[in-house]
Amino acid sequence: VFVTNHVLSGVIIGRTLERRPVAAFLVGVGSHLVLDSVPHWSCDKTLADAPERFLEAAKKDGVLGLATMATITMVVDRRSRMATVAAMAGAVLLDLDKPFVHFAGINPFPKTVQRLHSWVQNESPQWMRNELIFGIASATADAIAIAGGRARGSLSNREPSTGPVGDSPKAAYTSS
Ligand SMILES: [Zn+2]
Repeated sequence: VFVTNHVLSGVIIGRTLERRPVAAFLVGVGSHLVLDSVPHWSCDKTLADAPERFLEAAKKDGVLGLATMATITMVVDRRSRMATVAAMAGAVLLDLDKPFVHFAGINPFPKTVQRLHSWVQNESPQWMRNELIFGIASATADAIAIAGGRARGSLSNREPSTGPVGDSPKAAYTSS
């Protein structure tokens, strides 16, 4: 599954568990395995240039994922920011094996984790559609959640000034 899609799923988790960043992180890690078990795209490994194709896609996806993470961190409302960042970090954690292996030649995860991660994979070159559908659907859900969170944030900031409006019937009553 594209890293970007893992990042996108972190927003809803962060929003749901906004008061519990640690739980958000752990659910994020779990969501990675769930998403990887849903049919998703992989490059055609029978092609001779499969490693190059994979690397090319991974580079673009990595850059897009990082940019998405940065954007979400900036635009999400303050109340759920910490949990959202924790959830996104948890959601991408298991895919750090790829850059680690690529740049450092080592896999930082224990063998059991590596085995579990590759065991859940459900991938095929034909399933790009699923990646795109998931990406669009979750980006839309995230945008709604972020907009809702921001509206909620600005509403609670305005609460003191709405006080007098709420008091006015009483004021009218006492003055009569
Ligand atoms: Zn993965």
